[in-house]
Formats: sequence, structure tokens, C-alpha cells
Amino acid sequence: MNDFEVVNPATEEVITTVAMAGEAETDAAVARAKAAFEGWRTVSPADRARLLRAFAAAVDADREHLAELEVANAGHTIGNARWEAGNARDVIEYYAAAPERLFGRQIPVAGGIDLTFQEPLGVVGVIVPWNFPLPIAAWGLAPALAAGNTVVLKPAEATPLTALRLGELALRAGLPEGVLQVLPGHGPVAGRRLATHPDVRKVVFTGSTRVGSEIAAACGERIKPVTLELGGKSANIVFADADLAKAAATAPYAVFDNAGQDCCARSRILVQRSVYEEFLALLEPAVQGVRVGDPRDERTEMGPLISGAHRERVAGFLEGASILFQGTAPEGKGYWFPPTVLTAQPGSRVLTEEVFGPVVAVLPFEDEAEAVRIANATDYGLSGSIWTRDVGRALRVARGVEAGNLSVNSHSSVRYSTPFGGFKQSGLGRELGPDALQAFTETKNVFIATEEEN
Ligand code: NAD
Repeated sequence: MNDFEVVNPATEEVITTVAMAGEAETDAAVARAKAAFEGWRTVSPADRARLLRAFAAAVDADREHLAELEVANAGHTIGNARWEAGNARDVIEYYAAAPERLFGRQIPVAGGIDLTFQEPLGVVGVIVPWNFPLPIAAWGLAPALAAGNTVVLKPAEATPLTALRLGELALRAGLPEGVLQVLPGHGPVAGRRLATHPDVRKVVFTGSTRVGSEIAAACGERIKPVTLELGGKSANIVFADADLAKAAATAPYAVFDNAGQDCCARSRILVQRSVYEEFLALLEPAVQGVRVGDPRDERTEMGPLISGAHRERVAGFLEGASILFQGTAPEGKGYWFPPTVLTAQPGSRVLTEEVFGPVVAVLPFEDEAEAVRIANATDYGLSGSIWTRDVGRALRVARGVEAGNLSVNSHSSVRYSTPFGGFKQSGLGRELGPDALQAFTETKNVFIATEEEN
């Protein structure tokens, strides 16, 4: 084990140090999870549901504390952090209903009856990034536990605090020891070991496409199922017939929320050429009105970036681009970056690569076909928005854009009750919603002969 200094990104102060698991500690956690699996899978569905409801209630009672931890550890605004804690509670509560509804089927066949069972897989490794530590942990662990698996959750190096708290709350709610373990550790050490460990039967990974592809390769070697939630370069498409005032007023929040460190950030705004200038004139005051500052202040809308190194990476995307306008950001300590709107030459990397910071590119388009073509001109395909009053166009464009989560006249991407995930290099599989349980079970088919023996 070695220690990792956890830093408040708004002040650059060290909050605490956290011990990082090495390979041996990771193996020990997997062994405990494997031992706990036999007991957990046989807990009756009603009792498993009751325990998960108690876990959700414990998260609910701790929401303000969890939110404060996230403000300090990740620089999230207090408003966002409260939503995230509530989302973790909702996701656990939603899947608490699942153990009693994890139905198999009875299929008509000759000579007997045929039954299917949704069997748990065993130990599930959940590897989480630093941008939304709490919700993303919950999206993986809740359906995994509901389906009867045990979980080893590895938070990102920089943001382990809310995950550790979730682990404590699970125990307090009565989940047996070893059913949910939180294991802070370095990605290439503890994370990699979860991907390669023979007793980890499934990996849920959220993070960069580069690491996601390494994990998929490691899982492939063992034919281990994997769910991947990766990067994004989503388009916000504004047609001339849209409510332009609303589209412009909301566009900054669709990309600058969480300082742009959001896989669903609409980091390209495509505007129909006939209203391009008018839209920019509406967008500028909206961007300058984004309140950037102390994330503890209830009025703050955007906090700092996660680290100094990440701020440098984000700044690199400004090279060669033309800045149209910027919002404000505090001076002094903290990894601040102002909301930035720019244009760039076709082929620039700011148009195709994920910035993961408060930087948005604006591009004009002529017609529907060109809008769809530009939206799809990226290896990613996670999210996107379409602004138009023409319902037929909204549906045509929604069907044309290669992305997993689209919204019309809105920027919402995530609801715990609907599926979430990406096309192309944005991922593999879906989280949340009614079908996520399938990704944490194997279907078993059993035939029982009913013919009389002679
Ligand atoms: P990252 O890929 O660097 O790290 C993610 C996690 O993987 C961390 O816990 C890290 O410790 C671990 N890790 C790193 N190297 C590893 C390895 N070799 N083997 C196993 N685990 C390893 O990503 P990040 O910088 O923490 O997060 C940002 C990325 O996450 C962005 O690309 C963002 O778009 C993506 N993201 C996607 C979604 C989604 O749902 N699609 C949601 C949030 C974030």
C-alpha cells in the first residue's frame, strides 16, 4: 500500500491521504468478495430487496454529508453535488425493486417444461472515473448487487471519498461484510488487476476510451463480459425554427456543467447558418452570465477543473482555435478555467477530440443532412441535443445521429429509469433503466421432462 494525497481542486489544499491498494490487497478483496458471493446470492429476494432499500435510506440520510465531501474532493458545486447524492440514492432504490422481479421465462416445448433463470455472475469489478464519482459508482454497484453479485468498487485516484463513504453506509444498512468493498487504488495496479483477475467475472468500466480499450482487451482474454462507458464529443444541433432564446440560454449549461468534465457535454454547437449570427449574439451574454467560483456557494454554477495537469491539457485545445468569447473565472489558488466559446478549422482536434473542460466549438451548417453529417464526424457517439419546432425533423435527426442518448428541446441525458450508454467508441452495453440487470446475469436454461417413464 502507498498513500495518495487527496486535494481540494478549488483551494489546492490536501484534504487527507488515502491508502492505495496494491495487487496483493486487490487479490485479497476479490477473495473476500468471492467468499461473500455464496451467502449473498442465496439471500431471499425479499430480504435482498429490503437490504438494498435500507442502503438507499442510509444514503438518503447522509445526502448532505456526501454532497459536502464531493464539493471538497471534486470541486462540484453544492447544487450539483446534492443532485448527485440524490441520484445515487434513487439508483439504489430503483434496483432494490429488482430482486423480486428478476423473472425467468417458461417456454413451451415438447415432452416437458422449459425454464430460464437469471443467474448472478459472481464478483463484479466496478471501475469509476473522477468526474462523477458518486452517481457512476451507484450505476454499477446497484444493479450488480440486486442481481445477486458481490462488488469490488475501485474509485478514481483523485476522488475516493464519497465511494469510501458509500462502503460505510452499505455496512451500516446491514449488507453483509464483503458484499460491497471499496478499494482505492491506482488504475494500472488495482484497476488492471480487477480486469485480469480470474475470479472477477464481470467488469463495469467508466473512463477514457484509451483505458476502456485496454480493459476490453484484458477481459477479452478471459471471455469476461464488460460494460464500457467512455468518452464523448456530443453535438447540440440548433435549427433556424427553434426557440433560439431558449436554445442559447441553455447551451452553456449543456457543456459547462461540472466545468465541462462530463462525458455527455455538448461540446460542439451546430447552428443553422441562417440564424448563426443571431444565435451567437444570444449565446454571448448567456456564457458571460455563468457564475464560476467557490463551489460551496449556493449561487455558483461552475467550479474548478479537477487538477493542474488537467487544466494544462484543456488549455492545449485552445492552440490554433479562434476564441469568440469567454466567461469569467476566479484568480489565485484553484484549477480555474473560464467558459470558452471558439471556432476552429475543419479537422482541428478541438472538433473531434474530447476536451473534458469548459470549451465549446460553434459551427454553422446549411441543412438537415449536413447537420447529421457533422454530428457524426467523430469516433464518439454518446449524447446530443436537437433544437427544432418541427417534430418530424426532430425524429429524423434523432434517428440519424449515431449516439445513445439524445434529447429534443432539452439537454437531459440521464434518468435512472432509462437506458444510458454510447455508440461507436463511446462504449459498449447500457447502464440504468429496466434492462441493466441483464448485464449482471447469465441466462440459464433448464428442461424438465414430464413424460412418464415406461
Ligand atoms: P481514466 O480512463 O483515466 O480512468 C478511469 C478509471 O480507470 C479510474 O478509476 C482509473 O484509476 C482507472 N484506470 C486507469 N488506468 C487503468 C488501467 N490500465 N486498468 C484499469 N483501470 C485503470 O478516465 P478519467 O480521466 O478518470 O475519466 C475521464 C473519462 O471518463 C472521460 O473520457 C469521460 O468521457 C469518461 N466518462 C464517461 C462516462 C460515460 O458514462 N460514458 C461517464 C463519465 C466519464
